[in-house]
Amino acid sequence: MRAAFEIAGRQIEPGRRALVDLEMPRLSSHTALSMPVHVIHGRRDGPTLFVCAAVHGDELNGVEIIRRVLKTRTLQRLRGTLIAVPVVNAYGLIHESRYLPDRRDLNRSFPGSDEGSLAARLANLFLEEIVRRCSHGIDLHTGAMHRTNLPQIRGNLDDPESLRLARAFGVPVLLNSSLRDGSLRAAAGELGIPTLLYEAGEALRFDEVSIRAGTQGVLNVMRALDMLPPTRRKTTRPEPFISRRSLWVRAPESGMLGTVVRLGAQVTRGETLGYVDDAYSGRRESIVSTSDGVVIGRLERPLVHEGDAVYHIARFKGDVSEVAGKVEDFQANHAEDEVVSED
Ligand SMILES: [Zn+2]
Repeated sequence: MRAAFEIAGRQIEPGRRALVDLEMPRLSSHTALSMPVHVIHGRRDGPTLFVCAAVHGDELNGVEIIRRVLKTRTLQRLRGTLIAVPVVNAYGLIHESRYLPDRRDLNRSFPGSDEGSLAARLANLFLEEIVRRCSHGIDLHTGAMHRTNLPQIRGNLDDPESLRLARAFGVPVLLNSSLRDGSLRAAAGELGIPTLLYEAGEALRFDEVSIRAGTQGVLNVMRALDMLPPTRRKTTRPEPFISRRSLWVRAPESGMLGTVVRLGAQVTRGETLGYVDDAYSGRRESIVSTSDGVVIGRLERPLVHEGDAVYHIARFKGDVSEVAGKVEDFQANHAEDEVVSED
Protein backbone atom coordinates (compact mmCIF):
# COMPACT_ATOMS: atom_id res chain seq x y z
CA MET A 1 0.00 0.00 0.00
CA ARG A 2 1.08 3.54 -0.76
CA ALA A 3 2.48 5.60 2.09
CA ALA A 4 0.49 8.47 3.55
CA PHE A 5 1.29 11.97 2.30
CA GLU A 6 2.73 14.16 4.99
CA ILE A 7 2.35 17.91 5.03
CA ALA A 8 2.22 20.52 7.81
CA GLY A 9 2.08 17.83 10.47
CA ARG A 10 -0.86 16.07 8.81
CA GLN A 11 -0.94 12.55 7.37
CA ILE A 12 -3.19 12.06 4.35
CA GLU A 13 -3.90 8.41 3.61
CA PRO A 14 -4.06 7.06 0.03
CA GLY A 15 -7.50 7.65 -1.52
CA ARG A 16 -8.23 10.63 0.75
CA ARG A 17 -8.60 14.37 0.21
CA ALA A 18 -7.71 16.98 2.79
CA LEU A 19 -7.60 20.74 3.18
CA VAL A 20 -4.43 21.65 5.06
CA ASP A 21 -3.51 25.09 6.42
CA LEU A 22 0.06 26.36 6.12
CA GLU A 23 0.71 29.04 8.66
CA MET A 24 1.83 32.39 7.19
CA PRO A 25 3.15 35.55 8.87
CA ARG A 26 0.24 37.34 10.60
CA LEU A 27 -1.35 40.58 9.46
CA SER A 28 -0.26 43.73 11.32
CA SER A 29 -3.65 43.63 13.10
CA HIS A 30 -2.44 40.38 14.68
CA THR A 31 -4.95 38.45 12.59
CA ALA A 32 -3.67 34.96 11.92
CA LEU A 33 -3.29 34.06 8.28
CA SER A 34 -2.87 30.71 6.60
CA MET A 35 -2.46 29.31 3.11
CA PRO A 36 -5.15 26.68 2.51
CA VAL A 37 -3.81 23.76 0.47
CA HIS A 38 -5.92 21.01 -1.07
CA VAL A 39 -4.23 17.64 -1.12
CA ILE A 40 -5.69 14.75 -3.07
CA HIS A 41 -3.63 11.65 -2.42
CA GLY A 42 -4.43 8.96 -5.00
CA ARG A 43 -4.60 5.28 -4.13
CA ARG A 44 -1.97 4.44 -6.70
CA ASP A 45 1.56 5.71 -7.21
CA GLY A 46 2.24 8.45 -9.70
CA PRO A 47 3.62 11.97 -10.05
CA THR A 48 3.04 14.72 -7.50
CA LEU A 49 1.74 17.83 -9.23
CA PHE A 50 1.25 21.26 -7.71
CA VAL A 51 -1.19 23.69 -9.29
CA CYS A 52 -1.23 27.17 -7.79
CA ALA A 53 -2.87 30.52 -8.44
CA ALA A 54 -2.83 34.13 -7.22
CA VAL A 55 0.93 34.28 -6.67
CA HIS A 56 0.04 37.77 -7.85
CA GLY A 57 -2.86 38.53 -5.52
CA ASP A 58 -5.07 40.22 -8.13
CA GLU A 59 -4.88 37.42 -10.73
CA LEU A 60 -8.09 35.50 -10.22
CA ASN A 61 -8.78 33.27 -13.24
CA GLY A 62 -6.57 30.58 -11.73
CA VAL A 63 -8.57 30.55 -8.49
CA GLU A 64 -11.65 29.58 -10.50
CA ILE A 65 -9.66 27.12 -12.64
CA ILE A 66 -8.56 25.29 -9.49
CA ARG A 67 -12.13 25.29 -8.13
CA ARG A 68 -13.33 23.63 -11.33
CA VAL A 69 -10.46 21.14 -11.47
CA LEU A 70 -11.17 20.06 -7.88
CA LYS A 71 -14.80 19.37 -8.77
CA THR A 72 -13.87 17.08 -11.65
CA ARG A 73 -15.21 13.59 -11.02
CA THR A 74 -12.36 11.81 -12.76
CA LEU A 75 -10.11 12.86 -9.84
CA GLN A 76 -11.54 9.80 -8.06
CA ARG A 77 -9.29 7.79 -10.35
CA LEU A 78 -6.20 9.85 -9.61
CA ARG A 79 -2.78 8.25 -9.71
CA GLY A 80 -0.18 10.12 -7.70
CA THR A 81 -0.92 13.26 -5.73
CA LEU A 82 -2.44 16.61 -6.62
CA ILE A 83 -1.60 19.62 -4.47
CA ALA A 84 -3.78 22.60 -5.34
CA VAL A 85 -3.22 26.05 -3.85
CA PRO A 86 -5.95 28.47 -5.01
CA VAL A 87 -4.39 31.54 -3.35
CA VAL A 88 -0.66 31.75 -2.69
CA ASN A 89 -0.58 35.49 -1.99
CA ALA A 90 -3.52 36.05 0.39
CA TYR A 91 -2.15 39.48 1.37
CA GLY A 92 -2.43 40.65 -2.23
CA LEU A 93 -5.85 39.06 -2.69
CA ILE A 94 -7.27 40.99 0.28
CA HIS A 95 -5.97 44.28 -1.13
CA GLU A 96 -6.74 43.40 -4.79
CA SER A 97 -3.05 43.89 -5.43
CA ARG A 98 -0.36 42.06 -7.34
CA TYR A 99 2.14 42.73 -4.57
CA LEU A 100 2.80 41.87 -0.95
CA PRO A 101 2.41 44.37 1.93
CA ASP A 102 6.17 45.06 1.70
CA ARG A 103 5.53 46.11 -1.92
CA ARG A 104 7.59 43.26 -3.22
CA ASP A 105 6.59 40.99 -6.07
CA LEU A 106 6.41 37.41 -4.80
CA ASN A 107 7.25 36.10 -8.26
CA ARG A 108 10.59 37.93 -8.12
CA SER A 109 11.37 36.72 -4.60
CA PHE A 110 12.06 33.00 -5.10
CA PRO A 111 13.73 30.92 -3.77
CA GLY A 112 13.54 33.23 -0.74
CA SER A 113 14.74 32.46 2.76
CA ASP A 114 13.24 32.01 6.22
CA GLU A 115 15.24 34.96 7.52
CA GLY A 116 14.60 37.42 4.70
CA SER A 117 11.84 39.91 3.90
CA LEU A 118 8.14 39.00 4.11
CA ALA A 119 8.25 38.16 0.39
CA ALA A 120 11.36 36.01 0.86
CA ARG A 121 9.73 34.13 3.76
CA LEU A 122 6.52 33.46 1.84
CA ALA A 123 8.53 32.28 -1.19
CA ASN A 124 10.59 30.03 1.05
CA LEU A 125 7.48 28.60 2.73
CA PHE A 126 5.91 27.76 -0.63
CA LEU A 127 9.10 26.29 -2.03
CA GLU A 128 9.87 24.14 1.01
CA GLU A 129 6.36 22.98 1.91
CA ILE A 130 4.86 22.57 -1.57
CA VAL A 131 7.27 22.66 -4.48
CA ARG A 132 9.94 20.40 -3.01
CA ARG A 133 7.37 17.64 -2.50
CA CYS A 134 6.38 17.71 -6.18
CA SER A 135 7.65 16.24 -9.43
CA HIS A 136 5.82 18.76 -11.68
CA GLY A 137 4.08 22.12 -11.39
CA ILE A 138 1.63 24.50 -13.03
CA ASP A 139 1.51 28.16 -11.99
CA LEU A 140 -1.65 30.02 -13.10
CA HIS A 141 -1.45 33.73 -13.96
CA THR A 142 -3.29 36.47 -15.85
CA GLY A 143 -2.15 39.69 -17.44
CA ALA A 144 -1.34 42.57 -15.08
CA MET A 145 -3.93 45.26 -14.23
CA HIS A 146 -5.76 46.48 -17.34
CA ARG A 147 -3.89 44.08 -19.60
CA THR A 148 -5.39 40.98 -21.20
CA ASN A 149 -3.43 37.98 -22.33
CA LEU A 150 -4.39 35.48 -24.97
CA PRO A 151 -4.32 32.05 -23.28
CA GLN A 152 -0.70 30.95 -23.59
CA ILE A 153 1.82 28.69 -21.91
CA ARG A 154 5.24 29.97 -20.97
CA GLY A 155 7.97 27.60 -20.07
CA ASN A 156 11.48 26.48 -20.65
CA LEU A 157 10.67 24.68 -23.89
CA ASP A 158 14.26 23.60 -24.37
CA ASP A 159 13.56 21.11 -21.56
CA PRO A 160 11.91 18.08 -23.25
CA GLU A 161 9.52 17.30 -20.36
CA SER A 162 8.36 20.93 -20.13
CA LEU A 163 7.83 20.97 -23.90
CA ARG A 164 5.84 17.71 -23.80
CA LEU A 165 3.54 19.02 -21.08
CA ALA A 166 3.23 22.45 -22.69
CA ARG A 167 2.03 20.75 -25.89
CA ALA A 168 -0.38 18.61 -23.92
CA PHE A 169 -1.94 21.64 -22.21
CA GLY A 170 -3.80 22.45 -25.42
CA VAL A 171 -3.43 26.17 -26.11
CA PRO A 172 -2.27 27.28 -29.57
CA VAL A 173 0.56 29.58 -28.47
CA LEU A 174 3.60 28.54 -26.43
CA LEU A 175 6.20 31.08 -25.43
CA ASN A 176 9.69 29.91 -24.81
CA SER A 177 10.73 32.31 -22.11
CA SER A 178 14.15 32.32 -20.63
CA LEU A 179 13.97 31.77 -16.92
CA ARG A 180 13.45 35.00 -15.07
CA ASP A 181 15.39 35.43 -11.90
CA GLY A 182 13.31 35.14 -8.78
CA SER A 183 10.25 33.51 -10.34
CA LEU A 184 8.57 30.45 -8.91
CA ARG A 185 9.07 28.72 -12.25
CA ALA A 186 12.81 29.42 -12.22
CA ALA A 187 13.21 28.21 -8.63
CA ALA A 188 11.24 25.04 -9.36
CA GLY A 189 13.28 24.51 -12.53
CA GLU A 190 16.48 24.72 -10.52
CA LEU A 191 15.16 21.94 -8.30
CA GLY A 192 14.58 19.86 -11.45
CA ILE A 193 10.79 20.23 -11.28
CA PRO A 194 9.39 21.08 -14.73
CA THR A 195 6.86 23.89 -14.21
CA LEU A 196 4.53 25.50 -16.72
CA LEU A 197 3.20 29.00 -16.43
CA TYR A 198 -0.31 29.57 -17.81
CA GLU A 199 -1.09 33.20 -18.68
CA ALA A 200 -4.65 34.08 -19.66
CA GLY A 201 -7.06 36.96 -19.30
CA GLU A 202 -6.82 40.01 -17.12
CA ALA A 203 -6.23 40.83 -13.43
CA LEU A 204 -9.36 41.21 -11.26
CA ARG A 205 -11.61 39.75 -13.98
CA PHE A 206 -12.97 36.33 -14.73
CA ASP A 207 -12.63 35.46 -18.41
CA GLU A 208 -14.66 32.41 -19.37
CA VAL A 209 -12.55 31.36 -22.37
CA SER A 210 -9.38 31.61 -20.27
CA ILE A 211 -10.95 29.67 -17.40
CA ARG A 212 -12.28 26.88 -19.63
CA ALA A 213 -9.02 26.55 -21.51
CA GLY A 214 -7.09 26.56 -18.23
CA THR A 215 -9.30 23.94 -16.56
CA GLN A 216 -9.04 21.72 -19.62
CA GLY A 217 -5.31 22.40 -19.81
CA VAL A 218 -4.61 21.28 -16.24
CA LEU A 219 -6.60 18.07 -16.81
CA ASN A 220 -4.80 17.52 -20.14
CA VAL A 221 -1.42 17.80 -18.41
CA MET A 222 -2.58 15.36 -15.73
CA ARG A 223 -3.56 12.90 -18.48
CA ALA A 224 -0.18 13.36 -20.17
CA LEU A 225 1.43 12.52 -16.81
CA ASP A 226 -0.78 9.39 -16.51
CA MET A 227 -2.32 10.84 -13.36
CA LEU A 228 -5.75 10.56 -14.99
CA PRO A 229 -7.12 8.00 -17.46
CA PRO A 230 -7.28 9.11 -21.11
CA THR A 231 -10.42 10.96 -22.12
CA ARG A 232 -13.11 9.15 -24.06
CA ARG A 233 -14.13 12.36 -25.76
CA LYS A 234 -12.58 12.93 -29.13
CA THR A 235 -10.10 15.72 -28.71
CA THR A 236 -9.28 18.17 -31.44
CA ARG A 237 -6.22 19.54 -29.76
CA PRO A 238 -4.30 21.71 -32.19
CA GLU A 239 -0.57 21.35 -32.62
CA PRO A 240 0.67 24.50 -30.86
CA PHE A 241 3.04 27.05 -32.28
CA ILE A 242 6.17 28.03 -30.42
CA SER A 243 7.29 31.62 -30.27
CA ARG A 244 10.85 32.28 -29.26
CA ARG A 245 10.59 36.04 -29.41
CA SER A 246 7.98 38.55 -28.42
CA LEU A 247 7.99 42.33 -28.15
CA TRP A 248 5.82 45.20 -26.94
CA VAL A 249 4.60 47.97 -29.20
CA ARG A 250 4.45 51.20 -27.19
CA ALA A 251 2.34 54.35 -27.29
CA PRO A 252 4.09 57.06 -29.35
CA GLU A 253 2.17 59.82 -27.48
CA SER A 254 0.16 60.34 -24.31
CA GLY A 255 -3.61 60.47 -24.68
CA MET A 256 -6.65 58.25 -25.16
CA LEU A 257 -6.19 54.85 -26.70
CA GLY A 258 -8.51 53.61 -29.41
CA THR A 259 -7.74 50.04 -30.28
CA VAL A 260 -8.19 48.43 -33.69
CA VAL A 261 -6.80 44.89 -33.41
CA ARG A 262 -8.26 42.20 -31.21
CA LEU A 263 -6.42 39.66 -29.13
CA GLY A 264 -5.19 36.80 -31.30
CA ALA A 265 -5.14 38.89 -34.49
CA GLN A 266 -2.45 38.41 -37.07
CA VAL A 267 -0.58 41.64 -37.72
CA THR A 268 2.12 42.74 -40.10
CA ARG A 269 4.93 45.19 -39.66
CA GLY A 270 3.74 48.73 -40.45
CA GLU A 271 0.08 47.90 -39.79
CA THR A 272 -1.98 50.28 -37.63
CA LEU A 273 -2.86 48.55 -34.35
CA GLY A 274 -4.64 51.47 -32.71
CA TYR A 275 -4.66 55.21 -32.20
CA VAL A 276 -3.79 57.68 -29.51
CA ASP A 277 -6.16 60.66 -29.57
CA ASP A 278 -5.48 64.00 -27.96
CA ALA A 279 -8.81 65.23 -26.56
CA TYR A 280 -7.74 68.88 -26.77
CA SER A 281 -6.00 69.40 -30.08
CA GLY A 282 -7.94 66.67 -31.88
CA ARG A 283 -4.66 65.26 -33.07
CA ARG A 284 -4.54 61.53 -33.73
CA GLU A 285 -1.37 59.47 -33.76
CA SER A 286 -1.28 55.89 -35.10
CA ILE A 287 0.27 53.04 -33.16
CA VAL A 288 2.12 51.09 -35.79
CA SER A 289 3.30 47.51 -35.44
CA THR A 290 7.05 47.14 -35.42
CA SER A 291 6.86 43.45 -36.30
CA ASP A 292 4.90 40.67 -37.98
CA GLY A 293 3.22 38.33 -35.54
CA VAL A 294 0.16 37.57 -33.44
CA VAL A 295 -1.27 39.85 -30.73
CA ILE A 296 -0.95 37.85 -27.49
CA GLY A 297 -1.47 40.69 -25.01
CA ARG A 298 -3.15 44.05 -25.06
CA LEU A 299 -3.79 47.08 -22.90
CA GLU A 300 -7.52 47.47 -22.16
CA ARG A 301 -7.48 50.84 -20.42
CA PRO A 302 -7.91 53.89 -22.67
CA LEU A 303 -5.52 56.14 -20.74
CA VAL A 304 -1.96 55.94 -22.03
CA HIS A 305 1.26 57.74 -21.45
CA GLU A 306 3.93 58.02 -24.08
CA GLY A 307 6.03 54.86 -23.86
CA ASP A 308 3.34 52.66 -22.29
CA ALA A 309 3.38 49.07 -23.51
CA VAL A 310 0.16 48.63 -25.49
CA TYR A 311 0.35 45.53 -27.70
CA HIS A 312 2.33 42.36 -27.00
CA ILE A 313 3.27 40.69 -30.27
CA ALA A 314 4.63 37.14 -30.51
CA ARG A 315 6.80 36.36 -33.49
CA PHE A 316 6.77 32.99 -35.22
CA LYS A 317 8.89 31.29 -37.80
CA GLY A 318 6.93 30.40 -40.92
CA ASP A 319 3.37 31.24 -41.84
CA VAL A 320 1.82 33.56 -39.24
CA SER A 321 -1.65 33.30 -40.81
CA GLU A 322 -1.65 29.61 -39.89
CA VAL A 323 -1.05 30.55 -36.24
CA ALA A 324 -3.79 33.18 -36.33
CA GLY A 325 -6.20 30.63 -37.85
CA LYS A 326 -5.50 28.14 -35.06
CA VAL A 327 -5.99 30.85 -32.46
CA GLU A 328 -9.37 31.72 -33.96
CA ASP A 329 -10.48 28.06 -33.92
CA PHE A 330 -9.33 27.77 -30.33
CA GLN A 331 -11.26 30.86 -29.22
CA ALA A 332 -14.40 29.68 -31.00
CA ASN A 333 -14.13 26.16 -29.54
CA HIS A 334 -13.83 27.32 -25.98
CA ALA A 335 -16.51 29.98 -26.36
CA GLU A 336 -19.04 27.45 -27.70
CA ASP A 337 -18.17 24.73 -25.25
CA GLU A 338 -20.92 23.74 -22.93
CA VAL A 339 -20.46 25.18 -19.49
CA VAL A 340 -18.05 22.86 -17.70
CA SER A 341 -20.27 22.46 -14.68
CA GLU A 342 -23.12 24.53 -13.32
CA ASP A 343 -23.59 24.81 -9.63
ZN1 LIG B 1 1.11 37.03 -12.62
